[in-house]
Amino acid sequence: MNQNIPIQFSNGISVAIKREDLIHPIVSGNKFRKLKYNLLEAINQKKDTIVTFGGAFSNHIAAVAYAGQQNGLKTIGVIRGEELKDQNDLNPTLKFAKSCGMQFEFVSREVYRLKNEESFLKHLIDSFGDFYLIPEGGTNSLAVKGCEEILTSQDASFDFICCAVGTGGTISGIVNSAKPNQKILGFPALKGDFLQDEIRIFVKNNNWELITKYHFGGYGKVSEDLISFINTFYTTTKIPLDPIYTGKMLYGVLDLIESNYFPAQSKILVIHTGGLQGIKGMNETLSRKNLPILNVNV
Ligand SMILES: *Cc1c(COP(=O)(O)O)cnc(C)c1O
Repeated sequence: MNQNIPIQFSNGISVAIKREDLIHPIVSGNKFRKLKYNLLEAINQKKDTIVTFGGAFSNHIAAVAYAGQQNGLKTIGVIRGEELKDQNDLNPTLKFAKSCGMQFEFVSREVYRLKNEESFLKHLIDSFGDFYLIPEGGTNSLAVKGCEEILTSQDASFDFICCAVGTGGTISGIVNSAKPNQKILGFPALKGDFLQDEIRIFVKNNNWELITKYHFGGYGKVSEDLISFINTFYTTTKIPLDPIYTGKMLYGVLDLIESNYFPAQSKILVIHTGGLQGIKGMNETLSRKNLPILNVNV
């Protein structure tokens, strides 16, 4: 569903938002798209267990836990951060995943970095037997195929399509299904130059670009300015944004409009990729640090 953002922009620019956050009450946004064909493949291969990776606040971990339960698959989450191991003190994301039956394997950041090595995979096979592996963030070619279904034929009239970028699967799907005359702008939520190459694995077209200056210090990092932007945006539009991805992307898009990045009369479509489950955990962290919290109702 596309919805016009009720803000008056200069130069006749208009912004619509695709509410992918509303496609499912729990597996919201792009994680639903990314899991669709992977779940079918796991079932096709007659696997009864899914293993995947993520941080403690990961939307992907929450989505896999829930989708696995719905499809009768066991789920194992390899979680970055050994210090989170206390099962009586899990954050809201992990508490939810556990309630869906996900089993955790907490590993140190050092070990987590080695998660794609042969020796670590062997350790997982020894511990959990045969399984279907979904990479961190859920990005693989089946995930990209699912994300190709985000745009529909009705979206062909937009000049620019903007989305948040984590591992690059979502933007790859969007690039693959966009028209050649449309420009796709990705807003990475993390620092690092590796993303261009990741995306090139999945796309052939060149009508896309990464706008790398709106990561707010890196993955999971927020500033008071960002929190206040998300709160004001919610008051003005009634559209909730998450602080890790969509908040940073929209902050960037509105900032670029103000600095005349877009030509007059541009029609911009921004993708709401979901992620709202993370707000509760972020607010707990912000409260603990005595910082302003997100006042969005989700
Ligand atoms: C995971 C996620 C992204 C990033 O998607 P990638 O395919 O990893 O680039 C963007 N927005 C939200 C809300 C997410 O949860």
